[in-house]
Amino acid sequence: MTAGPGTAADAGADPGAGPGAAADGRLAPFRSAGRLVVKVGSSLLVAADGSARREWIETLAADAAACCARGQRVILVSSGAIALGARALGLKAGGRASLEDAQAAAAVGQIRLAGLWAEALDRHALAAAQMLVTLGDFEDRRRWLNAAATLDRLVTLGVVPVLNENDSVATEEIRFGDNDRLAARVAQAARADAVILLSDVDGLYTANPDRTPGARRIDTVADLDAVAGAADSGSRSGMGSGGMAAKLEAVRIARAAGIPLAIAAGAGAHPLARFLATGEGTVFPAGAGAPSRKAWLVGRMVVAGRLRIDQGAAEALRRGRSLLAAGITAVEGVFARGDAVDVLDPEGRAIARGLVAYDAGEVARIAGRRSDAIAAILGYAPRAAVIHRDQMVML
Ligand code: GLU
Repeated sequence: MTAGPGTAADAGADPGAGPGAAADGRLAPFRSAGRLVVKVGSSLLVAADGSARREWIETLAADAAACCARGQRVILVSSGAIALGARALGLKAGGRASLEDAQAAAAVGQIRLAGLWAEALDRHALAAAQMLVTLGDFEDRRRWLNAAATLDRLVTLGVVPVLNENDSVATEEIRFGDNDRLAARVAQAARADAVILLSDVDGLYTANPDRTPGARRIDTVADLDAVAGAADSGSRSGMGSGGMAAKLEAVRIARAAGIPLAIAAGAGAHPLARFLATGEGTVFPAGAGAPSRKAWLVGRMVVAGRLRIDQGAAEALRRGRSLLAAGITAVEGVFARGDAVDVLDPEGRAIARGLVAYDAGEVARIAGRRSDAIAAILGYAPRAAVIHRDQMVML
């Protein structure tokens, strides 16, 4: 079952050597990805007793080096800081008993984690680069562009960026909380071609495999809505914080940017080479993808408010129109002009997300009113729409 680092290279060079043409089709985007984001869950990096799984890390570093040797660029998103730090500090509950514990554990664990990767990659003459990011770095457009530029420069220099959330400063309200979504966001920022989430589960199942006899792993998921119910086939270790729901969120973010994503078993040696050779796991093919600014908007974690709209407006949005005040039935939240808000149809489903052209108080005053009445209500010339279609994505 275990594949050496050469296996992926062989499979990449000779697709006929793989497990069949259908599997090769699924795997092609991962094998040929110029930039590949690989996310590593805590339970893979850290043994049950809290010690680092050094040998395993070395096998993954070897896989990454094999990818680099055939011209791919690898970006790692590595969890494990909290778990490693908790052991060093002797903290209970894996360092997750309180926010303060998690922050202290992350600070101690992150420096070790970075050292492990730097050492393992150095054996293959690859430089590791640590980037710790917070949710805010990716929510704010300017900071996002800045992080994207740094990633781009690192990758073109042939460096392997190793990212994690900056857990020592992130608080509950402003954190990603799981590295699955972070990995998808990093992939957007790095203009990556594919994402692989290495996990203690080997893919998405038709039902929770621990509780449901006969549950099967799904090879390829084309329709995300059809599998939403399978989301509870989550993390087995209790060490990380992702679970299947976060992984499906990651799929949604990646899809918005036209990036394929796979969930694959990480626990054995050489997990990346093995996935690239065998395709064991669940593949979520890329969606059509949106222009990068719109993809960024879909991937945002925080929206400042919600606008409820009537049926007519919902239909207009689906036809690609802008959102006008006339169709708005209710305003929720406190937001300023330029903030991201979700748009809810009459059934309460979020159907679109966009950057709003007015603040919440103004929208409340003009909601339900026709465009020709708005100037008088506001006392100044109105904007073309409450959310212009160029600033909006359908979800
Ligand atoms: N950032 C966390 C850590 O390094 C892990 C988050 C997750 O479990 O996905 O420990």
